[in-house]
Amino acid sequence: MTGLPRTILGIAMALALAVAPAAGAERETRALEVGARERLLVVSPHPDDETLGAGGLMERVLSRGGSARVVLLTAGDGYVEAVVHATGLPRPRPTQYIAYGERRLGEARAAMRELGGNRIRLQVLGFPDGGLEQLLHAYWRRSHPELSPTTAAREPPYPEAVARDVAYDGADLRRELLHILRETQPTVVAFPDPLDAHPDHRAAGLFTLLALETWTREGGPMPKLLAYLVHWPGWPPGWDQAPPPASESHSLELPTNLPARGQERASLALGQAEVREKRLALGRYASQQEEMATVLAAFVRRTEPFTVFAPDEVGHVDRMVERHILRHAEHDEPAGVTPAPPGR
Ligand SMILES: [Zn+2]
Repeated sequence: MTGLPRTILGIAMALALAVAPAAGAERETRALEVGARERLLVVSPHPDDETLGAGGLMERVLSRGGSARVVLLTAGDGYVEAVVHATGLPRPRPTQYIAYGERRLGEARAAMRELGGNRIRLQVLGFPDGGLEQLLHAYWRRSHPELSPTTAAREPPYPEAVARDVAYDGADLRRELLHILRETQPTVVAFPDPLDAHPDHRAAGLFTLLALETWTREGGPMPKLLAYLVHWPGWPPGWDQAPPPASESHSLELPTNLPARGQERASLALGQAEVREKRLALGRYASQQEEMATVLAAFVRRTEPFTVFAPDEVGHVDRMVERHILRHAEHDEPAGVTPAPPGR
């Protein structure tokens, strides 16, 4: 997550209307079963999304003898409102955005320890926060590398980023994810829903599917594909209530107006200890708790919901990207014409 949900609500509402499903599109949700010794890969656009969307899933996979790996596409350094808030400066410097990114990475490490001791492998690619969708569009058009809108860097500025010499380019992001798939050989991939209302999340989902397309075309076995949702208008219920409602005994369902796309929905029922650890892990994101405690709390429920992508969706990812670019083309106009993406 990055960006104040209230600031994106207007844009998000417009997007939701643009993709509103026909009446009666609601589908049955089935229970998600986690097998023994799964290899789980979680793709996360910003530090905290992995826990919001799949914290309980990581715990379950580990408790069943499997492994979990988290790849953060960005360090979450583009959250302008939060950096303005933290520094007291109307126009923070690039170094202050980088310091904010370092803080969020430290929080992510602490959150992963909360969920899995030292058993969750965490890595950051350091691509530009707030710039993933532009990266996707540019990649699709074979245009020039993107410049991060906040850190003024053309390469990931974090020493721990795995690919420091990689310039910001969508082809590199696809390759990095492909490399991770080859290395991890995942049996389950949890990734952002390509219909998420946040542009970084949509793009992260599509980049994951693009990497999976190459991976399976070269003979890699198709993992189970679980899309998680973070940003959607008016969701999760109770996100704007202060103090947060006592929601941990309730289930969390995907929004009824999220298009079903002919896909199944699955829900992972969490035990009390798993719910507690998810809450503790989110508590480690102090920088985000300062900005949106009620939003984070609204994700701590006794279930985690996913859309299960059918394997043949991976083969159709090119069409999905083209549809996506057409749908969001009006948001890709010169600065000053289009509202700024959230978090900027
Ligand atoms: Zn995010």
